[in-house]
Amino acid sequence: MDGFSFSAGGPEEGVEAAVRLLAARRRILAFTGAGISTESGIPDFRGPDGVWKTVDPAEFTYERFLTSSETRRRSWQMRAESGILDAQPNPAHLALVRLGESGRLTAVVTQNIDGLHQKSGLPEHAVVELHGNAHQAACTTCRARVPTAAVLERVAAGDPDPACLGCGGVLKADVVLFGEPMPVVATDRAMHLAYECDAVISIGSTLGVFPAAYVPIRAVETGAAFIIINRGPTELDQLADVLIDGPAGEAVPGLVDALLQTAD
Ligand code: NAD
Repeated sequence: MDGFSFSAGGPEEGVEAAVRLLAARRRILAFTGAGISTESGIPDFRGPDGVWKTVDPAEFTYERFLTSSETRRRSWQMRAESGILDAQPNPAHLALVRLGESGRLTAVVTQNIDGLHQKSGLPEHAVVELHGNAHQAACTTCRARVPTAAVLERVAAGDPDPACLGCGGVLKADVVLFGEPMPVVATDRAMHLAYECDAVISIGSTLGVFPAAYVPIRAVETGAAFIIINRGPTELDQLADVLIDGPAGEAVPGLVDALLQTAD
């Protein structure tokens, strides 16, 4: 981590410190991870009840998905059971919409694939998805697109590994699997937003998945204030100005509402 200046004395803690830090900042970027959606009923990967406690991530690489029918069966089954398509936004997502309406949120860069920021009411252009969106699927051969709900209907009807109806190719949800490249346009846009912001708030992420975690790092490198809201420690706590350890569904509305009150 050469080249970073750590806050002297370590990060401050709590909502009040975050409000003080953000008071004069007008270009706030939110960077979200799986933890913002656990209160919507979608498990994270690395938290105390995370998916990786019972499932080996090595089973779900891009390579394995393309070559193993068994991996695809398990993957579609887990997607059906996750309830991700029916999940609803929680108070943390809704608080970000209020911040957006105030004109102080430049965008949300998300690692999530659940589409909950858009469902909460943020406009499409204000959400940058680094790891894709589970609501859509595509054929890996002919690129034909199909709603994931339609694929899961075929799974429920007894076809555990549905092939593309057009060309017979492998269908895959529009999400970035391990070993698969990041979407270039979204990644470029996220990095640009990181350079432009004057504060970045990370919400519900271990900040240990790269290259995604370079987004807050770039922001800090260019002088942005850095606030982390997370249950438990993250890989980048030392870089933060303020840490808020608590459930996003309480901490994000608490921070946003206090911030908007100070602006009145
Ligand atoms: P992660 O699983 O690595 O970490 C989540 C973090 O959030 C953990 O530190 C956990 O303690 C914390 N957390 C859990 N619930 C919280 C809450 N209510 N309030 C505050 N913090 C909470 O997640 P990540 O850093 O986003 O990286 C993992 C990858 O997981 C990402 O690439 C993402 O694509 C993928 N993922 C997405 C979803 C989703 O779309 N909802 C779900 C699971 C995994």
